[in-house]
Amino acid sequence: EIYCDSAATTAIDPEVIEAILPYLTTNFGNPSSSHWAGRKVREMIDNARNTIAKLLGVTAEEIFFVSGATEANNLALSESIREYELTHAITSKIEHKAVLQPLLKHEREGDIEISYVKLDKKGNVDIEHLEHLLDANPQSLISLMHANNEIGNITDIEAISKLAEKYNAIFHTDTTQTIGKVKIDLKEFPVDFLVGSAHKFHGPKGVGFIYINKRHKLKPQILGGAQEKGQRGGTENAIGIAGLAKALEISYRDFDSIHEKTTTLKQRLISQLENSGIPEIGFNGESKSSSQSLSSIVNISFPCLQSGSLVNSLDTFGIAVSGGSACSNLGNGGSHVISAIQDEENKENVRFSFSKFNTTEEIDQIVNTIAKIYEADNNTVEESID
Ligand code: PMP
Repeated sequence: EIYCDSAATTAIDPEVIEAILPYLTTNFGNPSSSHWAGRKVREMIDNARNTIAKLLGVTAEEIFFVSGATEANNLALSESIREYELTHAITSKIEHKAVLQPLLKHEREGDIEISYVKLDKKGNVDIEHLEHLLDANPQSLISLMHANNEIGNITDIEAISKLAEKYNAIFHTDTTQTIGKVKIDLKEFPVDFLVGSAHKFHGPKGVGFIYINKRHKLKPQILGGAQEKGQRGGTENAIGIAGLAKALEISYRDFDSIHEKTTTLKQRLISQLENSGIPEIGFNGESKSSSQSLSSIVNISFPCLQSGSLVNSLDTFGIAVSGGSACSNLGNGGSHVISAIQDEENKENVRFSFSKFNTTEEIDQIVNTIAKIYEADNNTVEESID
């Protein structure tokens, strides 16, 4: 079996499992308890918060643990709209549903109007248009993702941060796909909110964090106990938090070697496919760019494949890839990202996404399998013409 869908989720790193184990066994205390059992876990959570803060160039007081990026995005968007009585949001059509859905809800309820920034054919944000939108509505909530989860494009969040500062707008960026993969030093440029989900960088599922710039005080979205300094009620997911911090630490410790490896895998997949004899392969977004795209994502269209879904065919060979995102597979089919940037309908797009655990042999096997599927597909089409 080959797993090539690391933008959906990643395998847990064995070192992370080791870091989690004590909190599954001996260190089971409730971090809010004042006795020894609680203190052991509280100490780990404090250390985890410090680790994350240090890696991002912020203070520990600005990091809050939540259940993942979906919750973090909802919190940042809904609670900043409420707190500042914002009436205008600027986003893009290729944001994750965990951003679009809460914004659309506020639009439906009459709280805000949404403007969508123009994108070019490759899915890049038109910064001039963003400035034009800010000119018309300076005090906007800007929500633009750092890297797109389907096509891998990286957006220049530093440039957006500068614009947000100039216009006194609030800038939330969905960094779910970049935390641990692209270095972000918030000492260099400010953002108001950013988010992370541990399972995207070899940590456990169901745990993440939100960075809330200390100039903001948001109301909690989940009411209950006074955990997370009152920002998020509910006993902390100690097991998850231990894993999250360790996973992020490893991502930074091994940053260069991981980046080199995923870049090699990506380039190998691209060049092997280009030399495979399969015609008209289309690389979506900035897939072929090394600077404007994640080294871990390639999104490809195969217009020559006549029948069936390549994702399903590859699955029958034990190869896990994705059409669009795993989350959109649960919903209404099709990719809202691809349809936002491409004119032609119904082009099947396939996302290959790598991690440090993939090998060059796996890439070769994937390409050979696609070539086999293409051949079989073409033979069937010829037979049906006869
Ligand atoms: N934003 C982006 C860009 C994502 O890729 C994902 C995960 N697919 C999310 C948000 C949501 O993350 P989670 O499911 O871990 O809450």
